[in-house]
Amino acid sequence: MNFEITEEQAMIRDTIRDFAEKEVAPASRDNNRDEHFPLDLIKKLGEMGVLGLNLPSEYGGGGADYISYCIMLEELGRADLGVAVTVSVHLSLGGKTVLQWGSEEQKEKYLPRIASGEMLACLATTEPNVGSDVSSIETSAVLQGDEWVLNGTKTWISNGGVADIAIIIAQTEKSLGSKGLTAFIVERGTKGFSSRDLHNKLGIRSSNTAELVLEDCRVPQGNVLGPVGKGMSVALSAFDSARLGVAARTVGVAQACIDASVSYAQTRKQFGRLIGSFQLIQELIADMTVETEAARLLVYRAAAIKDKGEPATIETSMAKYYSSEIALKAANNAIQIHGSYGYSDEYPVERYFRDVRVSSILEGTSQMHKLIIGRAMTGINAFA
Ligand SMILES: Cc1cc2nc3c(=O)[nH]c(=O)nc-3n(C[C@H](O)[C@H](O)[C@H](O)COP(=O)(O)OP(=O)(O)OC[C@H]3O[C@@H](n4cnc5c(N)ncnc54)[C@H](O)[C@@H]3O)c2cc1C
Repeated sequence: MNFEITEEQAMIRDTIRDFAEKEVAPASRDNNRDEHFPLDLIKKLGEMGVLGLNLPSEYGGGGADYISYCIMLEELGRADLGVAVTVSVHLSLGGKTVLQWGSEEQKEKYLPRIASGEMLACLATTEPNVGSDVSSIETSAVLQGDEWVLNGTKTWISNGGVADIAIIIAQTEKSLGSKGLTAFIVERGTKGFSSRDLHNKLGIRSSNTAELVLEDCRVPQGNVLGPVGKGMSVALSAFDSARLGVAARTVGVAQACIDASVSYAQTRKQFGRLIGSFQLIQELIADMTVETEAARLLVYRAAAIKDKGEPATIETSMAKYYSSEIALKAANNAIQIHGSYGYSDEYPVERYFRDVRVSSILEGTSQMHKLIIGRAMTGINAFA
């Protein structure tokens, strides 16, 4: 067992940290307050190779491993969770899914443009009546001649309003349930495809979230991603790498909570003493530190297993569930340490609290991850 990161991973961490501190963090307060999607920052991350970091070099990616991917997302999450969400959805739900399931033609067509940031990507399972239960998807796709005709509405889709390609999971054979789902690549500009941005989110307001509408949207057969009837497998594999990204970027927020709290505790005085000298404040910081380190180790362990090419579904669920819960607690502690200043946007901790709340909802709620872990431990499937 090796707890040291490699020289290359350290270089990625330092490069992203430098960029995040100089360019992402300073803009995060305004971008979040104004619901501004920072396309300029995303384009710069594309130029730096971040948007294809762990895609293979033959498709224009950086060829990095999952540990590097997690380190990158932790650093971005530490500066602005919304930016980290944009990058991780694009790269893992988008790029990695095309890599795993795409035909050679699809990979050559889309991956270099995804890796460079020329094209942004998203993936849509959620619908107004469909959340945790992906198997009940209502969006339909019917084969007419040599085209599939898609109809339905997707909602709560990260990058949905800015993505150039959307991976849509639709029902192609309703009687087969989850075995009747199929994945499609739909390009923006396709007739019958439109998006509407969702506003007034509690947090991650610098990320784009949208509703996608498909109205007699015709896509060629060549845009089917993976085999017909394998849409559920496409979605599950996409979630597998995306959930690791959620865990990594959430650890970044927890770390930001520690950084802000330590700095405040070292300068704020009450009763003639620094508040950092009070043991009850030290206890809050100690809890945040231990739990964040434990979450980080769970993330690295899941990433290391994935880097060996082995299944890491349970380990990823543990990392995602645990990091989401402890980061929310860390953000709550950070506000407590800041007192009333923590309750205003003069300090960033109120944003960390609002931002990180979403981590236990998207990419599988905490309840769904506990079910995955519980099923693995007991061997009993609640849904069978
Ligand atoms: C900001 C944001 C971005 C998102 N981005 C995307 C995206 O890019 N693509 C996408 O497809 N979706 C996206 N989503 C949707 C997200 O994945 C869903 O919200 C999530 O899967 C939960 O679905 P739901 O909200 O419909 O809740 P529901 O499934 O309706 O669940 C409601 C509650 O019931 C609980 N529950 C449900 N089933 C069970 C059960 N069997 N046992 C115990 N408890 C249960 C849940 O844990 C939850 O507490 C996003 C959501 C948000 C908020």
